[in-house]
Amino acid sequence: MVRETKLYDILGVSPTASDSEIKKAYRKQALKYHPDKNPSEEAAEKFKEASSAYEVLSDSEKRDIYDQFGQDGLSGNGGMPGGAGGFGFGEDLFSQFFGGAGASRPRGPQRGRDIKHEISVSLEELYKGKTSKLALNKQILCKTCEGRGGKKGAVKKCSSCNGQGIKFVTRQMGPMIQRFQTECDVCHGTGDIIDAKDRCKDCHGKKIANERKILQVNVDPGMKNGQKVVFKGEADQAPDIIPGDVIFVISEKPHKHFQRVGDDLIYEAEIDLLTAVAGGEFALEHVSGEWLKVSIVPGEVIAPNMRKVVEGKGMPIQKYGGYGNLIIKFSIKFPENHFADEDTLKKLEEILPARKPLPTFPKNAIVDDCVLSDYNPSRHDNSRGARGGASYHSDDEDEGQGAEGVQCASQ
Ligand SMILES: [Zn+2]
Ligand SMILES: [Zn+2]
Repeated sequence: MVRETKLYDILGVSPTASDSEIKKAYRKQALKYHPDKNPSEEAAEKFKEASSAYEVLSDSEKRDIYDQFGQDGLSGNGGMPGGAGGFGFGEDLFSQFFGGAGASRPRGPQRGRDIKHEISVSLEELYKGKTSKLALNKQILCKTCEGRGGKKGAVKKCSSCNGQGIKFVTRQMGPMIQRFQTECDVCHGTGDIIDAKDRCKDCHGKKIANERKILQVNVDPGMKNGQKVVFKGEADQAPDIIPGDVIFVISEKPHKHFQRVGDDLIYEAEIDLLTAVAGGEFALEHVSGEWLKVSIVPGEVIAPNMRKVVEGKGMPIQKYGGYGNLIIKFSIKFPENHFADEDTLKKLEEILPARKPLPTFPKNAIVDDCVLSDYNPSRHDNSRGARGGASYHSDDEDEGQGAEGVQCASQ
């Protein structure tokens, strides 16, 4: 079949143009010929042409139909010779024959269903890229009869259902007239009549067969969760149907140590207090497989929850190249109770910045002297039970003492 390219010619792009190329080309034409900018009649015509070309080519389903069957496919006449051009006409014609609303006969060649598969990939694999071979069992047109169901010329359109394979039956039920769609009893829903002797021996007139196909799925470095790898037209084939696509959807596995945000990686590092205030180093195993040695220069102080960045150590950036950043979120491991005796602790006073001055109280203030006790979620977490804020002053026995975590005694 000679491919029709008129709509591409109107926009001045090649039939292999990408969606964004088509969009760009349309925008260019629209700017040039828009009635606001160019009031001539010729421009108006060009603007209309470009707009209707864009309407088709920007819709992947319509574009598929156009690529395979040309303008006739879009007009709803299934590419039949002599089909009247123009959108929608075929549909009108159809509804005249079969009645309007509810008629489920599709217009033009239908597009088959897409087959979607999730493909589970680790961060390491997304970093390096990966090729998976996946076997697909799919339905294809019978190769022996090329999807005709029998010998060339021996397959005739069923005249009882006009090749549709379905018929409409009208039945009166009381005051209502109901229409039912049923399988054609003459051709058993196939839409054609084949003499038994001419019927294809391989598919028995069914026109279809099964095939196992290996698809090689390339996961490119830097691909993201939810991104799709599309094999156009690789889904099930069926007579008079444009096969749908096989679509693999990337599903990123959660990682033990890294969290991904766009092209960046987030790593939570726990360092000890000494390293946080006096410098040191730590190491981490990166998703690239290499180890990173990270230094904290003496003099720099890392506070809890502080974030630092190692530039260029994030994920690869697909298409544009380069890498995102590695963001390190710090938590500080403080020493245990009684890690040093009191005399040694005094030395810290020589090193650390001085304490805030001791608190002062207004004259005549009543001051409670308080001691901290350990926080115990089962006793102290008010947000969990139905105890609500009221328990603050509750006299319930099980409240016990020190329910607020601080024991106080009036001075
Ligand atoms: Zn066959
Ligand atoms: Zn029939």
